[in-house]
Amino acid sequence: MTLYEALAIGTNAIGRHEARILLSHITELSPTDIMVKPNQPLDETTKGAFFAAMDRRMAKEPLQYIIGEWEFMGLAMKIDRRALIPRPETELLVEEALMHIGKLGHPAKVLDVCTGSGCISVAIAKLSDATVTAIDISPDALALAVENAEFHGLTDKIRFIQGDLLNKLEDQTFDVIISNPPYIPTFDLMGLQPEIDHEPKLALDGGGDGMEIYRRLVPQTLGYLAPSGKLLLEIGPTAVETIMIDVGYDIVKRIKDYAGHSRVLVGAKYIGGN
Ligand code: GLN
Repeated sequence: MTLYEALAIGTNAIGRHEARILLSHITELSPTDIMVKPNQPLDETTKGAFFAAMDRRMAKEPLQYIIGEWEFMGLAMKIDRRALIPRPETELLVEEALMHIGKLGHPAKVLDVCTGSGCISVAIAKLSDATVTAIDISPDALALAVENAEFHGLTDKIRFIQGDLLNKLEDQTFDVIISNPPYIPTFDLMGLQPEIDHEPKLALDGGGDGMEIYRRLVPQTLGYLAPSGKLLLEIGPTAVETIMIDVGYDIVKRIKDYAGHSRVLVGAKYIGGN
């Protein structure tokens, strides 16, 4: 079988774009090489690996899990079933964090709660002078986050804690507390794309109204935030605002995602006065 034939079969099965990504991953050839070397033969092992990967994709496993790597903030991240696949909207959260960090005038201390694959922590540690504390309740997710930190040579800038939100965190303050917690209402999880079934429920399920984690997390953050620090949350339900305000935050910024949905809230401690 040649590259051309493999790409033709793949295109019929899963579309040309994804077939080319898989073929390029498996042959370790660039996507351009795949097209300009149509007559190059595939050995039996490569052919077997390509068909196995296509079978997984046809069973609706996300492409990112099959190739085991995805890009976030222009950085390669190891990705697998231990954690959620990084979403483009989460880049908005990181861009906002980097902006605050850049204004500080000293190396930032950042806390990333529900770090998952560690993509937020790794991007912040890689793209700024910040040191990061990354927390997750899932030991599996945390193991993946450590692999990503190692992959980017950031183990001296990121510290990992396995715990339920902030319960294992010793007293200290942070300039930025950032989180993309699970926020899909439990019932809605059933109606999503079949690909999402392959992702850990723990990383998505935000309870009945999607706000359970915020209800526990937001009050806990107050004592850990430096006086002029910022709390940056990725949100699904916009009512998260009321939780923040109730515990003593001002909403200082709201950011919409590319689909026009409110996706990021930035809170600062309410300091009162008229
Ligand atoms: N944005 C993700 C989705 O819609 C959810 C991420 C999360 O729950 N934190 O699939």
